[in-house]
Amino acid sequence: MANLNALANDLVSGAVQVVDLTAPLHSNTPILVLPEPFGQTASFKLEEISKYDDRGPAWYWNNFHTGEHTGTHLDAPNHWITGKDGDDVASIPPQRLVGPAVVLDFVKEAAANPDFLLEVSHIEAWEKANGPIPKGAWVLFRTGWSKFGDDPKAFANADENGPHTPGLPPACAEFLATKRDILGLGVETVGIDAGGAFGMEVPFPCHNYLLGNNKYGLTQLRNLDKLPTTGAIVIAAPLKIVGGSGSPTRVFALVSK
Ligand code: MN
Repeated sequence: MANLNALANDLVSGAVQVVDLTAPLHSNTPILVLPEPFGQTASFKLEEISKYDDRGPAWYWNNFHTGEHTGTHLDAPNHWITGKDGDDVASIPPQRLVGPAVVLDFVKEAAANPDFLLEVSHIEAWEKANGPIPKGAWVLFRTGWSKFGDDPKAFANADENGPHTPGLPPACAEFLATKRDILGLGVETVGIDAGGAFGMEVPFPCHNYLLGNNKYGLTQLRNLDKLPTTGAIVIAAPLKIVGGSGSPTRVFALVSK
């Protein structure tokens, strides 16, 4: 029997800390912008219903408008055509939203080259140093990109050739999706794929392989620098949008101090 009393005590004493991996949601939260003629997602917007006024004398509340894929969010399998018969965001079993986190730190590489791509050899070297990626893990690709998260232009880092942000090439995306029994991939960038993923020989390979193999994506994560390489537990809590392809998500990590 698992000892949740010990965890409860550790939470109260601070021996286990809760790190918020979520970016704030507001009208300037970066969103993915697709080239013409594709449909566009909506930015986050609050619409005030009442604020202790004629419309509601004792209460304040808002409607909000946004896309499913705004800010820190989860990609469900049915987001991609390869996973179209897979789970929608409401159908993902809760047991598969909580798991051990492994942090692959490529901050230096991404700083030197914004188009940095994580290769299978990088993962194999990481496993040699840290042990195999555990079953049911969230694989967190730490690039330092979240430091641009309050500046949509720097976050997208686009020029006439498109966006330049780090990611995974097809071989590595396929490897993670099929050779490791993970929950999914978490990144600091606007989406789970690299800025240059449209032009890869398998376009958007993380979406293609991960979602097509019943794995999930977590995006726009923050505070990955506050996590140990291994040993944290990540909890992802997307809204239970029936039929939804994803959802803005609160993501927490439990970290032992
Ligand atoms: Mn998405």
